[in-house]
Amino acid sequence: MGTWFKIDLWKRVIAALILGIGVGLALRQGMGPESSGAFAITWIGWLGDLFLRLIKMLIVPLVFFTLVSGVVAMGDPKRLGSLGGRAIGMYFGTTGVAVTIGLIIGTVLQPGSSLSPETFSAVDATAVESKAAAADAAGGIVDRLLQIVPTNPFEALASGNILQVIFFSILFGIGILLAGEIGKPAGKFFDAAAEAVMKITTIVMEVAPFGVFALMTVVMADKGLGILKSLGMLTLALYLACVLHIIITYGGIIKGILRLPLKPFYRGISDAQAVAYSTSSSGATLPVTITCVNENLGVDKSVASSVLPLGATINMDGTAIYIGLVALFGAQALDLDVSLTQYVLVAVMATLVSVGAAGIPSAGLLLAAAALTQVGVSDEKAILVIGFIYPFDRLLDMMRTLTNITGDAAVATAVAKWEGVFDEEVYRADDRF
Ligand code: ASP
Repeated sequence: MGTWFKIDLWKRVIAALILGIGVGLALRQGMGPESSGAFAITWIGWLGDLFLRLIKMLIVPLVFFTLVSGVVAMGDPKRLGSLGGRAIGMYFGTTGVAVTIGLIIGTVLQPGSSLSPETFSAVDATAVESKAAAADAAGGIVDRLLQIVPTNPFEALASGNILQVIFFSILFGIGILLAGEIGKPAGKFFDAAAEAVMKITTIVMEVAPFGVFALMTVVMADKGLGILKSLGMLTLALYLACVLHIIITYGGIIKGILRLPLKPFYRGISDAQAVAYSTSSSGATLPVTITCVNENLGVDKSVASSVLPLGATINMDGTAIYIGLVALFGAQALDLDVSLTQYVLVAVMATLVSVGAAGIPSAGLLLAAAALTQVGVSDEKAILVIGFIYPFDRLLDMMRTLTNITGDAAVATAVAKWEGVFDEEVYRADDRF
């Protein structure tokens, strides 16, 4: 038992991930693809569900308590403006670079060119159509912005509407600051509560190796690597673009701009990456991302608790890469020429749409329809292209979610350093590993 805890958590989590892939594929091989998925879901699916429920349980209290205590710790509401401005600027900047990398890779590798327009005639797109309609129902941009203001903050907390929770927490923190002397005990209370929730997160993370193992086994037993055959080039293009973005863009920010060594960054964030990869949800990964960024990367809680929840909802570089790639994939498969203007339109569209994508599984794919229409694919055909990819989306989603949360962590590190609330000693404490 002692030996188990002596091994660093991130090593246990990565080992569990690899073991899960192996066991899932072995089950698929041994039992056949029809029964392996059901078998894995019945026998170990519960372990993955337990882990997911445990981390989801922490999202709302963690965001609420740490964000209020973070705002109070800033001591000055004006600092919020500079912090928010920097974070949002970085989000858009990195997402723009991400789409560009995606479009370059998509142009070089031509993931859709081996398919012909007829491929899509046999696709059953009903499931996608109804989900896309539901996503559309979210309303226009003004409406969406209005929705950020909760009419009942307690309801927002209860339903886990993260943007509304962020909005109210920031205002509440400002309220405590403005209350001066009388507000101080409230500030202390939120500090203490935030500390307590962070401690629970650390306990829950001990379940991560088992949860990640179970989630990976189920995905592999259920879906297998079949995706590599049918959508091999698209998968390759996405994984390659994401890896390049993680190395070049985030590496460039950490090393080139912030002048920090790279190793502690990638090691420090690896738990969150493994959880993102196995859950396909930036939202569900949020508690782990906050803990990793705060405890391993030395980013102050005031930044981690404000920049990361916002990032998990609006900063999705992996999703933007993907949306750009799907647009090119569709155009190539349907033999459509893409002009330079259309490339630019796709890039803008992918950036904007990725902001609107929710941090939940498959959100990105459903929104790719918007980018497909930019390259001249009709609405009906767009749904067919998406319906074609949909059954295999999981393995693609895993990689883009991993990229999404890595981007959030890189931006949080940069903002913390610029705001002077970055503990470089914690970041550099390599002996942790
Ligand atoms: N699953 C992704 C996330 O949660 C969103 C997407 O589908 O691209 O970050």
